[in-house]
Amino acid sequence: MVGAAIAYGLARAGARVRVLDEGDTAFRAARGNFGLTWVQTKGLGNQPYFELTRNSVDGWADFASDLHEASGVDLAFRRNGGLIICVGEEEAEKRKRFIGNFKQQAGHDNYDCDFIDRNALQDLFPNAELGPEVTGASFSPMDGHVNPLFLLRAMSDGLQKYKGSFHAGHAVQEIRKTGNGFEVNTGSQIFSAEKVVIAAGLGTGHLAQMIGLDVPVRPQRGQILVTDRTEPVFPYPMSGLRQTDEGTVMIGATREDVGFDTGTTVTGYAGMTRRAVATFPMLAQLRLVRGWGALRVLTPDGGPVYVESEACPGAFVATCHSGVTLAAMHAKLLPRWVLEDRKPTELQTFGPERFHVQPAA
Ligand SMILES: Cc1cc2nc3c(=O)[nH]c(=O)nc-3n(C[C@H](O)[C@H](O)[C@H](O)COP(=O)(O)OP(=O)(O)OC[C@H]3O[C@@H](n4cnc5c(N)ncnc54)[C@H](O)[C@@H]3O)c2cc1C
Repeated sequence: MVGAAIAYGLARAGARVRVLDEGDTAFRAARGNFGLTWVQTKGLGNQPYFELTRNSVDGWADFASDLHEASGVDLAFRRNGGLIICVGEEEAEKRKRFIGNFKQQAGHDNYDCDFIDRNALQDLFPNAELGPEVTGASFSPMDGHVNPLFLLRAMSDGLQKYKGSFHAGHAVQEIRKTGNGFEVNTGSQIFSAEKVVIAAGLGTGHLAQMIGLDVPVRPQRGQILVTDRTEPVFPYPMSGLRQTDEGTVMIGATREDVGFDTGTTVTGYAGMTRRAVATFPMLAQLRLVRGWGALRVLTPDGGPVYVESEACPGAFVATCHSGVTLAAMHAKLLPRWVLEDRKPTELQTFGPERFHVQPAA
């Protein structure tokens, strides 16, 4: 997801780009995510991260329309606001405090998010009655959602339209600095390039060491469920519940530290469905048709890492937790940095040195 966005942006800017991708057996959060373009929970305690996220989502409509033009794929991007629904008084109080703290950090005008009570919330869902325990929700017009698989497909088609190429089944095994660039060995082939961007999700840490950087990333599993198609009943995406353009309802997602295990569990599914039915009891009438587990890519503080290697100038690393949300920014800012050799000010605070880790020898 991250590499595809950067590659698309680079090719669109006129660079000659090759994407080397491990293939279908790789861990791919890009194929298992929830599809939110989400701002309201991103960056409390980290104002630059909030601004980066908000700016990315502000640019999402243009990004989606550019991609549509380049690829012919309609991403079903909608930005009419998103909700985090509270069940019980304690959750409501916690959410109100969160909003208050965020407004204090970001400024009341910048953090566009408010708590709405149960009655106002019910008015937003005329076709779905709230469960009796629902107390209200935070609502932010900053949030939206998109079809993440269409996004991937559009970025890949867009890359090829701008003469970039995509090489599946090429797991990078070695990156070597040469006199005027890099050689990248995938076992079956060696590719040469003036510059290299490592954006390999959970494979990033291993590859980053080859250019003298220590970028710690770890997996966190999220399980997701999908229902049968139904009438449009949920006009707004919610954290953990969204109706897709096709009519299915996605229910998610767990947060589990289980290492590199993409399996699914009855306990995980039961917890998600219990919560969903407590929010909207009508969901109990729908049939579940699909479910999966996928691994998030997390740094120690959950924030993104954007860095150019000092040991190997011209080699970059990009990784983040919200690759869908940040895709518009990745396609715009990262290519500018790679091509112009000047780190954009918006990205200055996102180096891995904040984890107090020394570069590898
Ligand atoms: C359950 C769940 C829900 C999520 N919901 C959202 C959401 O609503 N909104 C949002 O913004 N984000 C969401 N995310 C996060 C989002 O999916 C990720 O941020 C994004 O996919 C990360 O992109 P990535 O390219 O870093 O990693 P991935 O998507 O995991 O891709 C990594 C790529 O690197 C390749 N690779 C790895 N090693 C090598 C190698 N040695 N050589 C060549 N290629 C290699 C793999 O083939 C793969 O294609 C969610 C994630 C999960 C798991």
